[in-house]
Amino acid sequence: DQTPIRRALLSVSDKTGLADLGRALAARGVELLSTGGTARALRDAGLDVRDVSEVTGFPEMMDGRVKTLHPMVHGGLLALRDDASHVAAMEQHEIGPIDLLVVNLYPFEATVAAGAGYDDCVENIDIGGPAMIRAAAKNHAFVTVVVDVEDYAAVLENMDAHGGATSLEFRRGLAQCAYARTAAYDAAVSTWLAGAAGVDTPRRRAFAGTLAQGLRYGENPHQRAAFYTDGSARPGIATAVQHQGKDLSYNNINDTDAAFELVSEFAPENGPACAIIKHANPCGVARGKTLSDAYQRAFDCDRTSAFGGIIALNGTLDARTAEAITGIFTEVVIAPDADQAARDIFAAKKNLRLLTTGGLADPRAAALAFRQVSGGILVQDKDTGHVDAGDLRVVTKRAPSDAELADLLFAWTVAKHVKSNAIVYVKDGATVGVGAGQMSRVDSTRIAARKAQDMAGVLDLAETPTRGSVVASDAFFPFADGLITAAEAGATALIQPGGSMRDDEVIAAADELGLAMVFSGMRHFRH
Ligand code: 5GP
Repeated sequence: DQTPIRRALLSVSDKTGLADLGRALAARGVELLSTGGTARALRDAGLDVRDVSEVTGFPEMMDGRVKTLHPMVHGGLLALRDDASHVAAMEQHEIGPIDLLVVNLYPFEATVAAGAGYDDCVENIDIGGPAMIRAAAKNHAFVTVVVDVEDYAAVLENMDAHGGATSLEFRRGLAQCAYARTAAYDAAVSTWLAGAAGVDTPRRRAFAGTLAQGLRYGENPHQRAAFYTDGSARPGIATAVQHQGKDLSYNNINDTDAAFELVSEFAPENGPACAIIKHANPCGVARGKTLSDAYQRAFDCDRTSAFGGIIALNGTLDARTAEAITGIFTEVVIAPDADQAARDIFAAKKNLRLLTTGGLADPRAAALAFRQVSGGILVQDKDTGHVDAGDLRVVTKRAPSDAELADLLFAWTVAKHVKSNAIVYVKDGATVGVGAGQMSRVDSTRIAARKAQDMAGVLDLAETPTRGSVVASDAFFPFADGLITAAEAGATALIQPGGSMRDDEVIAAADELGLAMVFSGMRHFRH
């Protein structure tokens, strides 16, 4: 059976909860060892502490680079308590066992995030801390290792339940966490070094994440799942605050992310905007005079699909918009904020989740995007590509009007967020038809037009909403057929990257139909 914890070494950069933990350990008869700043904080709290430098017989030196890297510490962490030769070595060298290690590391990640200079970042690479954590975690058969402030209470609880010792099962779990922490730490250092050294594709790359939420299941009920975050503080799905409703599911998280990333393309300065997402694809995106107007116009793109959808807004959710949203079943609403009246309206809808983010995502912020394939991970830059009116090249005899141009840019922005092959019809700052994820571009063009035609029936319109619309295509039209289909549906202008072998043929068809077409020179595949 495990002997009770008698000696603890505490060495923490983040002093949160330290005094309370120190007090609780002291009250349980545990001797406290500590490094410089941690010892000071514990003494300030009125506790008896022994300095590690006294134990090692060496002063902390070299700006703290060498504090705990000593056999008196590592012997105490690594010795097998049930091995005669280890015990003899401890006795011979007067090494006292260390039963509990509490370490949190130099704030390397926060130092980098704060934009610190090179030398400052290097100095914040903790060496002794990870060494102790790994030593203690290796020896979890005897040693309890804690790397998270959140675990302090659980350690005390576990000790109290086991006569001052901890259970092996508990120590094993902590050891698993400990190695994940040092792995994540080194991953952060390596990632930073890759950037600092200007290496785009490092020969080795490390990844790590922290559990944000265990999920009931994955995409399907027979798949296990969890949500891990990378520590970014940016507004988005990972940092959003949920105000009501049951826990988000795997699919909810994926779709809510898609919705929020899309709506964040529309700066609030340019007016309210709303995106409705189903299965990670937009089924309606619109600007409006007001937020509720934007919602209504997005909803009118495809009312059928919007049922059970995810709604993202680029401004503070207000009562009118909240009222309109509650008209049908919606899974999630995400917005920078929500006013009290809106929250009160949602409160009556127990199943509706409301998330606020405190701001919009920055669609231009560089980030990496990952995709798993069998036996590996594909890594690429997140698609932050963007075109302005100035980047467009008019390739037809007719140039787009100002109104068409505004809609073309809107459609192009939406198309970036639609699974390929993506075709997006837009009129007056609102999508009127979205064709997503088809294996042929002409099918996406037809499907979007047909869905728009269906909506004409639902909305009791005299003609199809695509009449007088513009069209965006995420990649070039390989043949003229897609363009001809769009024209038949009533589109008057198109935006596409260009670059097909048959561009001439496609341009000639556009000219013949009196269409205006611009090349963006950029592709937005999304697979
Ligand atoms: P303190 O505030 O107690 O002076 O320092 C605590 C920090 O020092 C902890 O984050 C711990 O991980 C780190 N640390 C402990 N021993 C060593 C060491 O030998 N070298 C380095 N670089 N950091 C250490």
